[in-house]
Amino acid sequence: MEVVLYPDPRLRRRNAPVQRFDADLEALVRDMFEAMYRTKGVGLAAPQAGLNLRLLVYNPEGDPAKSQGERVLCNPRIVWRSRDKDWGEEGCLSFPGIFARIERPTAVHIEAQDLHGQPTRLELADWDGRIFQHELDHLEGILFIDRMTPSDKVRIKPLLDELAEKFSTARAQA
Ligand SMILES: [Zn+2]
Repeated sequence: MEVVLYPDPRLRRRNAPVQRFDADLEALVRDMFEAMYRTKGVGLAAPQAGLNLRLLVYNPEGDPAKSQGERVLCNPRIVWRSRDKDWGEEGCLSFPGIFARIERPTAVHIEAQDLHGQPTRLELADWDGRIFQHELDHLEGILFIDRMTPSDKVRIKPLLDELAEKFSTARAQA
């Protein structure tokens, strides 16, 4: 599985709810973790795997040896967010080499379904909460560039142009 890179239109499409909790979903989740670890990430949303589904995986440890940190969330939604916010540096596997500080609520409470369709409720804060919110944005077609400060948008513009250039070259060759 290859990670979908900006500006692939699949990153902006509507994502459908996960409805079948079966062996295909388990295989997809395994592939997503594998792609995430291989590219040194801590989270991956289904649209980044080329599938427009409301599914995300992450592991704040970013280490396959620490699989107890792995989370699989289907159809997640935020039911509460803290008024407190903070800034933290983020990257995104769909934007290799681009990093910027993003402001987000420090804590969120969420509801989701697990890999087997069982409802689950979690309270996430700090790094855990930040990764989750970044991945949830992907399920809404929101990318971290949308949340950057105006000065960061200017700073990273040449890198975005480079990604767009690579994308159109690859598409022309396909
Ligand atoms: Zn991302």
